Amino acid sequence: MLIVQKFGGTSVGTTERMRNVAARCLAAQREGHDVAVVVSAMSGETNRLLKLVAELHDDPNDREVDVIVSTGEQVSVGLVSLAIRKAGGKARSFLGHQVKIVTDSAFSRARILSIDSEPIREAMARVEIAVIAGFQGVDEQGNITTLGRGGSDTTGVAIAAALKADVCEIYTDVDGVYTTDPNTVPTARKIDRISYEEMLELASLGAKVLQIRSVELGMKYGVPIHVRSSFSDVPGTWVVPEEREMESVVVSGVTVARDEAKITVEDLPDTAGVAAKLFTPLAANNIVVDMIVQNQAWDGTTDLTFTVPQGDRKRALEILKKEVPDLVGFEGERTSCDDEICKISVVGVGMRSHAGVARKMFELLATERINIQLISTSEIKISCVIARKYAELALRVLHEGFALHLPPSERAAL
Ligand code: ADP
Ligand code: ASP
Ligand code: MG
Repeated sequence: MLIVQKFGGTSVGTTERMRNVAARCLAAQREGHDVAVVVSAMSGETNRLLKLVAELHDDPNDREVDVIVSTGEQVSVGLVSLAIRKAGGKARSFLGHQVKIVTDSAFSRARILSIDSEPIREAMARVEIAVIAGFQGVDEQGNITTLGRGGSDTTGVAIAAALKADVCEIYTDVDGVYTTDPNTVPTARKIDRISYEEMLELASLGAKVLQIRSVELGMKYGVPIHVRSSFSDVPGTWVVPEEREMESVVVSGVTVARDEAKITVEDLPDTAGVAAKLFTPLAANNIVVDMIVQNQAWDGTTDLTFTVPQGDRKRALEILKKEVPDLVGFEGERTSCDDEICKISVVGVGMRSHAGVARKMFELLATERINIQLISTSEIKISCVIARKYAELALRVLHEGFALHLPPSERAAL
C-alpha cells in the first residue's frame, strides 16, 4: 500500500513524541508499505508566531505573515527527519516549495493548484521517507503562502491525492471523529465511518478535527481518510463515500462555531436590488457572508440580518458605510452588530429521509430557554444562531436529546 501519514501539532509537540512518529512511520515501512509523511508545526508554535506578529503590527502585511508563520513546519520536518534517521531509517525533509506545492496568491488562505509528486516518488524508490512540511506552499511568483489554520490536513490529503495513495492517515490527539468535540462533551461517541459530505458539514460548522478543504479534496479525488490517534493503535474514523447504512443514522453529529458575528440592517426599502447593493461590495472585498435572513416587509421596509467571520466584522461595516451609506446609516442608528453569538448545528445524511429533526432541535433548545436568533437549513444540516454564553449548554442538551452517546442502533426514533 501507499500510505500518507499526517501528524498534527500535538503529535510532534516534543522531541519524545517525534521519536514516536518516527517509530510509527518506520513500522509501516517495515510492513512493506510505501510511506510519505506530512507534519504540522509543534503544538502552540503557530499561535506563538502569530502573537509575535500581533505585538509588532495591528494590520500586518499578508505576505510577511506567511513568511513568518510557515517557519513552524520547517523546524518540524527537520526534526522528524532526524528522528527517523536516529531510529535507523532513511528520511529527507521537504519544504512546500521543494515539492512544488503551487498555490494561488491568497496569503493566509491559499488554495493548492498543483503538486509535483516526483521528488516524493524518487525518495520512495530509495526507501527513504519524505517528510513534507504541512500548511505551506509557494505561489507562481515564488512567494511563500499558507493554507489557513489547520492547513496541514489539506497538505496531507493533497499529497495523498497526488500520489494516488491508498489512504491518508490523519494522526491527532483524539482517536477519531466524534459525535461532538469529546473535549467539550465527555459522553461524545466515536464514529466508525462517516461520509465525506457529513464530514464536510461538520468541519465547516465548527469541528476543527479536519480542515474543510482537506475533506473537499478527499471527496474530489476519492482519497479515503483515516482519522486516528498518534498515541494508540485503536482504529479511528474512516471518512469515505456515502454507504447505504449511513442513511439510517438521522443525526450523526453536533457542532458549534464561535467565530462569527451578526450584523443587522433595519428599515431597508422593500424594492428590487437592495440585497444585491448590500452584498456586492462585501463579495468584492472577499468577505464571506454565511447566514442571511430577511423578513417579509409589512410597511414598505424590511430588516436584514447576516453573519460574517468575526475577524471581518469591522471591515464589513466600514465597507458598507463607505459604499452604501444610504442603506446602512450609522451603527446604533439603523445598523447593529452582535459579536457574542455562536452557531450550533446538527448534521446527518439521514435527515434527507426523516422528518422532525428541526422540531426536536427547537424543542430541546426551548427546554433550556435558549433563544434562537437565526435559523438556516440544508438537506443534511440545521443551524441555529444563539447567544455565545449558551454554546456548551446547547451542545450538551442536543447531544443528549438526540441520544448521540448511544450506539446508532440503540437510538430511539425521533
Ligand atoms: P491537530 O493538531 O492534530 O491537527 P486539532 O487540534 O487541529 O489537532 O484537531 C483535533 C481536535 O479537534 C481535538 O482535540 C478536539 O478537541 C477537536 N474536535 C472538535 N470537534 C471534534 C469532533 N467532532 N471529533 C473529534 N475531535 C473534535
Ligand atoms: N500549524 C498550522 C496551524 O496551527 C497548520 C496545522 O497545524 O494544520 O494552524
Ligand atoms: Mg488540525
